[in-house]
Parts: sequence; structure tokens; C-alpha cells
Amino acid sequence: MNLENQTALVTGGGRGIGKAISATLASAGAHVYLGGTNLETAEETAQAICDNGGKASPIQLDVSNKEDIQNAFDRIIGEAGRLDILVNNAGITKDGLMIRMKEEDWDRVLEVNLKGAFLCSQLAVKQMMKQKSGNIINISSIVGQAGNAGQANYTASKSALIGLTKTMAQEAAPRGIRVNAIAPGFIETDMTGGLNEKIREGLMGKIPLGKLGSSQDVADGVLFLASCRASYITGQVLNINGGMLM
Ligand code: NAD
Repeated sequence: MNLENQTALVTGGGRGIGKAISATLASAGAHVYLGGTNLETAEETAQAICDNGGKASPIQLDVSNKEDIQNAFDRIIGEAGRLDILVNNAGITKDGLMIRMKEEDWDRVLEVNLKGAFLCSQLAVKQMMKQKSGNIINISSIVGQAGNAGQANYTASKSALIGLTKTMAQEAAPRGIRVNAIAPGFIETDMTGGLNEKIREGLMGKIPLGKLGSSQDVADGVLFLASCRASYITGQVLNINGGMLM
């Protein structure tokens, strides 16, 4: 799974799942740009990757800001001359029961999780079409397939990301571009750190493998999909969920 001479962009690459994805792609030889709203976190993670012998650069990238996205792509293409891998990982939650959900919380989650991935992918596909190769991986979620009470906005964004993945895969395949999604189950990160013990115990009973996943579990899936080992795989959703949804 060698990614030497490839350039990757991981949105929200500074922490959590994005951090593991960035480190894993870099360990396979890719030069990874770590997009972040918090540049300091992206800088620290990029430095740690470089200290480990990898190639990584932090880059200012708020996926809800069109100007930021254009600037980030201009810089990457200017410096590296190409973009081989885009991982749309940036995501947020703003939970609440659907009947009480504030319109601004609906809009914000869709703006970051779905529109952000769409806008980044648009620029990526334009570049990848010129190269006649490329790989896009969208980080969806198990709850985008199964639903989850209290997450109308988040589940809608993650389901829609799967639809977007399949449409982009169909449109881009003739130009040698593959587009896939990963649907992680419950993964140990800041996002799930707030779950109380009772919810955690309840979750364990529903996960056949009996534990939450790690960021590395998701990163390994990204590496596989980005590699030539997955060269005949496009438009798919890879479930990494300990068997929670089959
Ligand atoms: P996290 O909160 O630790 O990380 C999210 C990342 O997205 C952070 O780096 C954050 O800075 C970035 N981000 C947020 N808003 C952004 C914006 N406007 N522009 C650019 N970056 C932005 O969460 P995580 O658990 O690492 O989640 C990563 C992805 O995996 C998300 O898309 C999430 O929905 C998805 N996911 C997580 C789990 C889980 O259990 N943790 C399960 C399924 C899917």
C-alpha cells in the first residue's frame, strides 16, 4: 500500500480520526496536507508526523468557508502540482431532538458535514480529471445508515454523504477517479468522549466485537481504499463498526 509521490488532503486532519488518517497516509509515503480551522492543532500533528520521518503540512481550511477552500487548493496545487487523495473527514455534531432542533443547528451541521465535503470534492475532482486519476474518501457514519434519535441533522448529513459518494463515483469513474465512503461505528475520540457510562454500557451490548473502535481502525480502511489494492472498488460504503450494523 505504497503512496510514495502522492499528495493527500485530510480535512479536519489535526485531531481524532483525521489525525490517525493523516499519520497513516504519511507512513505509506504520501505528502499529507492537514486541513484545520484550528491551525495550531494541525501544526502540532504535522510536526509529529515530520518528526516520525513523514511528509506533512498544516493548512488553514474551514470547510464552511468557500474562500478558505479555494486558497487551500490553490496552495496545494501550487506547491505539489497535484492532488491524489482527498479525505472529507471534517465533521461536527449539534444534537437535539428533531422537534426541538434549532434551524441554525440544522443548517450548521449540514453546512460543515455535507456542503463542505461537496465543495472540497468539486475542486478535487476538477484537478483529478486533469490528472486522470484520484481518490476521494468521505467519512460518513453508521448513524447515516441506521438513524439515531437526537441526531436528525447529523444523520441527514451522513446519509446524504453516501448519496453524494455514489453520484460522484458514477460521474468521475470514466476519468479514473474512485470515490468511496467509510461508515465508522462508535470510535473513541473527542466526539464520543462525552458519552456517559450508561450509554457506553448500552452500546457494548450492541457491538458484536464488544468494544468501541479506534481512530486507527478507520485510518486503516482509508489507507486500503486510497491504495491500488482497492483499484476496482468505487461507489462503496466500507462499514468499520465492530459488526454493530451488518
Ligand atoms: P473530532 O471532533 O475529534 O474531529 C473533527 C475534526 O473536524 C476536527 O479536527 C475539527 O477541527 C474538524 N472540523 C470541525 N469543523 C470544521 C470545519 N468547519 N472545517 C474544517 N474542519 C472542521 O471528531 P472525530 O470523531 O475525529 O470525527 C471525524 C469524522 O468522523 C467526522 O466526520 C465524524 O462525523 C466521523 N465519525 C466519527 C465517529 C466517532 O465515533 N467518533 C463515528 C462515525 C463517524
